[in-house]
Amino acid sequence: SKRVVIPRVAVVGLGLIGCSWIKGLRVRGCVNGVRGYDRNLDSMQLALSEGLIDHYSENIAEVVADADLVIVSVPIMAMRPVLESIREHIGAHTVITDVGSVKGSVARDAAAVFGPEFDRFVLGHPIAGSERSGVMAADENLYVRHKVIITPEAHTSRAALALVRDAWSAVGADIEHMSVDHHDEVLAATSHLPHLLAYSLVDTLANSHENKEIFNYAAGGFRDFTRIAASSPVMWRDIFGANKDQILKTLDLFSHDLAFLRAAIEQGDSTTVMGVLTRAKSARDHFS
Ligand code: NAD
Repeated sequence: SKRVVIPRVAVVGLGLIGCSWIKGLRVRGCVNGVRGYDRNLDSMQLALSEGLIDHYSENIAEVVADADLVIVSVPIMAMRPVLESIREHIGAHTVITDVGSVKGSVARDAAAVFGPEFDRFVLGHPIAGSERSGVMAADENLYVRHKVIITPEAHTSRAALALVRDAWSAVGADIEHMSVDHHDEVLAATSHLPHLLAYSLVDTLANSHENKEIFNYAAGGFRDFTRIAASSPVMWRDIFGANKDQILKTLDLFSHDLAFLRAAIEQGDSTTVMGVLTRAKSARDHFS
């Protein structure tokens, strides 16, 4: 990983994703000073006592002032108000980046707040994380050999892009570029739909069985398939809302294929069932 030193970093949103990034930068000696802001005072105090940040303030202006890089790591629907609250306080050189799981809505928020020509906002999304959240979930190796998708726009400054790339490389991430629209289409299928299905399945089973008795028998398949339903509801409510069109498109495709599989099972059409399972297994065997 590339060695870079960023003098002043500010992190807004002291949760799993933001804290893992700064912890990774700190333990590798890639930052000098880190300031933090969160709307939750306990998170700021904890981040300070854990040595993740050097300073916090309930006044966001003081946290982002003079920062070389501002990392915005809040849930998607909190992006717009956060950007509005920092607009007047960032420096003329400050680069801003985010980690949101949806890029179209953040791109629109950034354009609305800073203007469509603002060239120091670099949109990013690490393909790493877990169902855990908060300061204590921070892991300095979370991004090692994980992809980070950066979605630069035509007007994005080369220097700003280079700084954000360096900050991700420094923590071991592999960077890929994509367009905003392509990102949201791909992630709807590979991440947003599976989370939606996991939440929905667990909810169905929890509501349909007395005493949650079935969860006593929830070994292997159920555990693997539904782990992600323990993720943050706020985060996922925001993602489902912000990427609605792409998620509905992939959900409709899935519903169609699910109905097809259901019909084959109902009709005892074992050849068709076998065809679906064989194709799926072969596809699954060929990745990872
Ligand atoms: P988290 O719940 O661990 O942390 C979010 C933090 O933001 C919390 O400390 C919360 O108090 C704070 N916050 C909320 N609203 C705020 C506001 N208006 N102002 C200031 N702080 C505010 O969540 P996380 O997993 O770190 O997710 C953060 C972002 O990263 C989200 O946009 C999410 O889509 C994205 N992301 C998450 C994952 C994952 O697996 N968890 C992976 C990739 C990207």
